[in-house]
Amino acid sequence: MVKEKTKVSLLYIQRQKKIIEKMIRLYCQKKEGHNSLCPSCIELLDYASKRLDYCPYGKNKPACKRCKIHCYKPEMRLKIQKVMRFAGPRMLIYEPMETLKHWFGK
Ligand SMILES: [Zn+2]
Repeated sequence: MVKEKTKVSLLYIQRQKKIIEKMIRLYCQKKEGHNSLCPSCIELLDYASKRLDYCPYGKNKPACKRCKIHCYKPEMRLKIQKVMRFAGPRMLIYEPMETLKHWFGK
């Protein structure tokens, strides 16, 4: 599955994974008040990483919001949206807008 992806898009996916991990950690700590990731956030992180792995668009993918595939199942979508809404504005401090466009892009 990896073979048809270019190195660039693999790096891109790795970067996306790091960002999503940061956001989920931020959400779990600040919003839910856990010291370390709670089981449901671990599940979400795992799920989100897998979705990135399977995303057929690679680096050329549109923002997930506009993506036609809608690969998240409904309950994961809801949860990730909550995480985004909470962690998104806070992430601007750490990450350049460019990388966030993927998640919030309009
Ligand atoms: Zn949590």
